[in-house]
Amino acid sequence: YGDASQKIDYVFKVVLIGDSAVGKSQILARFARNEFILDSKATIGVEFQTRTLVIQHKSVKAQIWDTAGQERYRAVTSAYYRGAVGAMLVYDITKRQSFDHIPRWLEELRNHADKNIVIILIGNKTDLEDQRAVPTEDANEFAQKEGLFFLETSALEATNVETAFSTVLTEIFNIVN
Ligand code: GDP
Ligand code: MG
Repeated sequence: YGDASQKIDYVFKVVLIGDSAVGKSQILARFARNEFILDSKATIGVEFQTRTLVIQHKSVKAQIWDTAGQERYRAVTSAYYRGAVGAMLVYDITKRQSFDHIPRWLEELRNHADKNIVIILIGNKTDLEDQRAVPTEDANEFAQKEGLFFLETSALEATNVETAFSTVLTEIFNIVN
């Protein structure tokens, strides 16, 4: 999980967006600290967390920004998106509405973020398969149509969280190299 003394070759800012309660803060906690926080309100106010990883022999510091409860439509300010080279667009597979709002979030991104931003669509909470309300195929089709990467994750069980971040960070790395 990163050595503070190492030289940093790149810093990539990545933003987490999506409706409230889809699991953005838990996905970040899993990636940055390998934790699942039982009282997730404890994270409110934290702007971003970082983790340094190695991609093709270069050290890349991922600076991951989390909305501090500003998920109301259009409440996320343009400062949040400024300088972002990646975005994780998260919905909850058990909440159809959180998936139905994805086009709005995508529009927000397209209005505020750099047009070359790398975007991954994430369906979180796959551990709740028995409550699934969004078929994988619907999300896959949407992602293909919009040119987004797509993965389903469980922050709780640590499924695919690492893969989701490495997919985005490696794609960004390949664009800048
Ligand atoms: P945020 O508002 O998008 O930041 O969502 P949080 O990370 O605060 O999570 C909202 C709720 O969903 C909390 O009760 C979390 O414990 C729960 N949660 C987050 N990720 C998962 C997951 O992968 N599986 C399950 N079962 N619950 C999750
Ligand atoms: Mg949160």
